[in-house]
Amino acid sequence: TSSHVQSDAFNIFSCQLCDLRSPYSYYGQKPPNTRAIVLLEECFVTKDPFSPDREKFLILGSECSLCRKRVCVGLLWSPGIVSLFLN
Ligand SMILES: [Zn+2]
Repeated sequence: TSSHVQSDAFNIFSCQLCDLRSPYSYYGQKPPNTRAIVLLEECFVTKDPFSPDREKFLILGSECSLCRKRVCVGLLWSPGIVSLFLN
């Protein structure tokens, strides 16, 4: 039998275009513990594990507003995708 796994207790962001998978701590436009940051799109974010600053966070990816696919930020910020978001 598999070990005790609760998928709803540990949110995993998975990119639908590549194999990137990473746990995330928040999905939305205003990450908690940040004062001035409001994202333009709802994004999957996680705390920066490498920084002691609690306001540092990493954007993992976002849901495409056109195709509703979850894509990681590496693809999101590629020139083709950026131009789509700027339309
Ligand atoms: Zn990806």
